[in-house]
Amino acid sequence: MKRDDLTGLALGGNKTRKLAFILHDAIAKGCDTVITAGASQSNHCRQTAAAAAQLQLECHLVLGGQAPDTPNGNLLLDTLFEPKIHWAGQHRKGEDIPKITKALAAQGKKPYVIPYGGSSELGAYSFVNALEELETQIETNTLSHLIFASSSGGTHAGLMLGKALLNKQYELIGINIDKGETDAVPFDQFIINLANKTSQFINANITFSHDDLILNSDYVGEGYGVVGEPEKEAIALMAKHEGILLDPVYTGRAMAGLIDMIRSGKLTQQDKVLFWHTGGAPSLFAYADKFKH
Ligand SMILES: *Cc1c(COP(=O)(O)O)cnc(C)c1O
Repeated sequence: MKRDDLTGLALGGNKTRKLAFILHDAIAKGCDTVITAGASQSNHCRQTAAAAAQLQLECHLVLGGQAPDTPNGNLLLDTLFEPKIHWAGQHRKGEDIPKITKALAAQGKKPYVIPYGGSSELGAYSFVNALEELETQIETNTLSHLIFASSSGGTHAGLMLGKALLNKQYELIGINIDKGETDAVPFDQFIINLANKTSQFINANITFSHDDLILNSDYVGEGYGVVGEPEKEAIALMAKHEGILLDPVYTGRAMAGLIDMIRSGKLTQQDKVLFWHTGGAPSLFAYADKFKH
């Protein structure tokens, strides 16, 4: 297991990697305000608000849903960093960002837009960098599979590009987290486009097509953020047998997929599987009622 739940920055997660590159760019461009979007339990928004506080940047979060009476989980942590929160109802993927950005610019601020999930070229590039880090930690030539939760595409696109650059043979399996009913571009196409844009961005001469992508959508269940029995079982097994916390939205679902692949014989004892733990456990607290005995 690659423990990106332990990356640090306000309880960690994979967004630490993306933000390290993205916020460097924001500061280099002279921006004083960052704006991003996500669900009310977004790990990306929690970590963005924390990083902005650390760097003394003004932070605007555009969150799906509406303000609850009692903030919990990630949203509780968000409030401690004191970002400006804009409640956006059905719009949890940044649909309202252009409007708010325009208003901020009109007030004389220099806003920097961080797309949904931090999945820009720089965000994806942080996962090329992450695979280079992995090379210093384990012998990856013996790996048969690398499995992770895929949701806004940056992690997936970056790992695809990193794997190609390092010339690795393992299967890169992204477990799709989101049904994506409202996506303008189908998620598989979005990931390929982002991998290609990131490749161009770093002047790598690599082009990706659908043949290069494994996005497994068998485990989306009732959709984004809806915890079901498979996620609960995966969270319970990992806690009880390993003392490791998964989360209800992403890693619980991805691990449920991995467990199902073992049970159905798609993964065998001969396989060497790396699970990339992308974080997320702070949202467990917001799902307390789902874990009643
Ligand atoms: C954002 C996130 C992911 C998905 O990463 P993407 O790059 O958005 O696909 C997975 N797990 C957790 C805990 C996350 O917060």
